[in-house]
Amino acid sequence: MANQKKKEPVKVKEQDALKRSANFEEVVFGYSEDEALKESVRCLQCRAPNCIAGCPVGIDIKKFILQLTQKDYKGAYLTIREKNSFPSICGRVCPAEYQCRLVCVLSKKGLPYASEESINVHFLERFIGDFGMKQGLEVEKRLEEKFSKFKVAVVGSGPAGLCCSGELSRLGIKVVIFEALHKTGGVLRYGIPPFRMPRDVLDFEINYLKKHGVEIIPNYIVGKSSALEDLFVQGFDAVFLGLGAGVPGFLGIKGENLCNVYSANEFLTRVNLMSAYKFPEAHTPVNIGEHILVIGGGNTAMDAARCALRLQKMSGMVPNTTIIYRRTEVEMPARRLEIEHAKEEGVKFRFLVQPQEYVGDEAGLVKKLKSLECRLGEPDQSGRRRPVVIEGSDFELDCDLAIIAIGLEANQVLTSATPQLKTDKYHDVVVDPETMETSVKGVFAGGDIVGGEGTVIEAMGMAKKAAKGIIDYLTRK
Ligand code: FAD
Ligand code: SF4
Repeated sequence: MANQKKKEPVKVKEQDALKRSANFEEVVFGYSEDEALKESVRCLQCRAPNCIAGCPVGIDIKKFILQLTQKDYKGAYLTIREKNSFPSICGRVCPAEYQCRLVCVLSKKGLPYASEESINVHFLERFIGDFGMKQGLEVEKRLEEKFSKFKVAVVGSGPAGLCCSGELSRLGIKVVIFEALHKTGGVLRYGIPPFRMPRDVLDFEINYLKKHGVEIIPNYIVGKSSALEDLFVQGFDAVFLGLGAGVPGFLGIKGENLCNVYSANEFLTRVNLMSAYKFPEAHTPVNIGEHILVIGGGNTAMDAARCALRLQKMSGMVPNTTIIYRRTEVEMPARRLEIEHAKEEGVKFRFLVQPQEYVGDEAGLVKKLKSLECRLGEPDQSGRRRPVVIEGSDFELDCDLAIIAIGLEANQVLTSATPQLKTDKYHDVVVDPETMETSVKGVFAGGDIVGGEGTVIEAMGMAKKAAKGIIDYLTRK
């Protein structure tokens, strides 16, 4: 054990920072076979591993890593797939340093996230997931005759909707996904940029579901195109709601309605879903400024800043994008890798800053951001130290494009059209935590619409639980 502890973590290869900050190609190359094997033998194979409980879906991490060391890649793939339907996706975006890696015994303690000594579980998972994808490995179907007569409607095609569809179609249940947008994937497509989530990986997973009988109806807003109850009239036996949290939060300060003040959701949707980064090949550009400020400290802020900086460089401008965050780097909720990548690419950071007012010119275009400096006070409910503004510390920053990335809330299109669907004070759908059934019989929910803004694997964990709830419900029917 002592010897194993001394083994250095295997660094993953990445695209050069200068080069990648002017393109949208994938940043992290992933482990080669040799690298994955070297990293896997660092695992101590603890008798009572903490990491499994650290994973929201309880992947048997110890087992899949052991299988990897034995070059049983197919076995490792099947072990992961028992709990996680999309290893190639999670291996790329999972904030493992706050989850499984945080409780790895090799991680140094004291920080709110895992230190680099912990096993790189996510990179190993990605290696195995990509192996399965390249080999076209399939998970055995568990077709049961009694389920073939049932039809389930899934509303929303984000990770929650996709995962629930996969679980149900495996049993032979007919699944139809209704998606409001013209493309599927939810945040994985309209929010997370292709340099973190390559579209061929996402398309592979969606095509896999289609191949196994899942039907997808785009441009269909349940709650507008039809009412929730109409789905039952159309012959569906149960419904899963994976609506996500797609409504951006704002600071509510003066000047937020000026031109070139974007929500991160709008900015990222224009860039990623509408392909503004391919302009003029794609006909949908996005405004870009010389002094870009991104307000926030989560993954959304990192993605927005890294996209903005790329667009500045690709349009021949001097890169000048700054993240404004009211706490310090330690408290930033973003994945640590994304923070490092943003810094390497040239994104600047201003910590302990609280925006107060956007100032515009006569034409109504944003020009400045008035702010106050902060200091850290006592911890708040989240356990992070609260930012306290320092009176009299006013200062101004040049700003001709602002992107607000301070959080997302539930989209109420469906819930407000369905008063019988119980919601809480955040407008999230209330469910029975055991079955994920809502207040409407036969309607289940999971993902960000239930827990508020979370992670991809948490959304999938809830969807899996809901799928089980639906199966039990159909069995009783
Ligand atoms: P969503 O992904 O939001 O999908 C919901 C889908 O439902 C959407 O496609 C929407 O159009 C559709 N929909 C909504 N209402 C209706 C309706 N009435 N009718 C039909 N369709 C409807 N998590 C991580 O783990 N790692 C990361 O690196 C990470 N980065 C992120 C970066 C950004 C920019 C954002 C915004 C989030 C990030 N997250 C990350 C969080 C993660 O993406 C979410 O937790 C996850 O996508 C939630 O999945 P979901 O299926 O519940 O919702
Ligand atoms: Fe860790 Fe995420 Fe993989 Fe679970 S899904 S084992 S938390 S990297």
